[in-house]
Amino acid sequence: MSVSRRDFFKLTASAVSGGLIAAKSLSAAEINQEKYADNYAMLNDCTKCIGCRGCQTACKKSHEGLSHTGNDSRYDMPLDINADNYTVIHLFKETDDKWSFVKKQCLHCNEPSCQSVCPVAAFHKRDDGIVSYDSGKCIGCRYCLVACPFNAPTFEYDSATPKVQKCDFCKDIRIAKGETPVCADVCPRGAIKFGKRGDLLKEAKRRIKNNPDKYNTHIYGEAEIGGTSVLYLAPKDISFADLGYKMYGETPPIELHESIQHGIFKYWIPPVALYGALGLLAYNNMKKHKSNPLSEETDNES
Ligand code: SF4
Ligand code: SF4
Ligand code: SF4
Repeated sequence: MSVSRRDFFKLTASAVSGGLIAAKSLSAAEINQEKYADNYAMLNDCTKCIGCRGCQTACKKSHEGLSHTGNDSRYDMPLDINADNYTVIHLFKETDDKWSFVKKQCLHCNEPSCQSVCPVAAFHKRDDGIVSYDSGKCIGCRYCLVACPFNAPTFEYDSATPKVQKCDFCKDIRIAKGETPVCADVCPRGAIKFGKRGDLLKEAKRRIKNNPDKYNTHIYGEAEIGGTSVLYLAPKDISFADLGYKMYGETPPIELHESIQHGIFKYWIPPVALYGALGLLAYNNMKKHKSNPLSEETDNES
């Protein structure tokens, strides 16, 4: 199995965080689900999805600025979320009997890594649970892309004024008007249910209890990395690893990010180290030049 550079950073961070913060950070039991119960949330039920991709198309059409065409005005289905597609439907298929569609997007984490690593606070977990992004603050460092456990943020590499892009929960075009997100609205199968996180968790548990032969009993996002606002139900014989979701523990990684970042910036280590190194280099060059002032001319002449 090949491990990308991005995955390597994530795995290293997870391994280190597991060791460093297991003793002091929140466990699933300690995470107060009540704290997030009133947050806006979404329940993506993979057993209901028929892969029509209406949600994907509607999301793209409703968000101004997302490109609608590929080269030569042809439009191809994207293989994954990208700067022009906040959500995509993937198909997992092992056999004719074992398959499922799954919707990929930003999960609007309860304890978002993107927010904790961003050095200029361009990401913000709002009181209603939505993780929003402010392009006006963003400096394009792309630390958020590396830190996100779900590879949700993407970057406009081909733009002169690039921004980070990700699902915004339709906060401006729908939520601000008291309406439900576009994808949940258009789904012909009711596979995307929008509501309050506490209610949707109850709904997910009710579906599992009433349909034991249909559902995997695990609700993805209930506890992973401290819980997410986007929750998933999967078919009985299909795991979330099958669907492309990593099986994270319950500890949010943000404590590690914050302890490293705060440690670094508290003592101004990067600027001091940088200027110290540059000063040393300049001093050495000066010394070399003084001990042999003709060296440069000699070098040039030879
Ligand atoms: S609109 Fe509904 S059924 Fe169609 S792909 Fe999206 S989630 Fe699946
Ligand atoms: S899924 Fe990634 S981008 Fe979305 S809130 Fe979580 S850490 Fe941030
Ligand atoms: S909530 Fe809005 S932005 Fe997010 S995937 Fe659905 S339609 Fe797109």
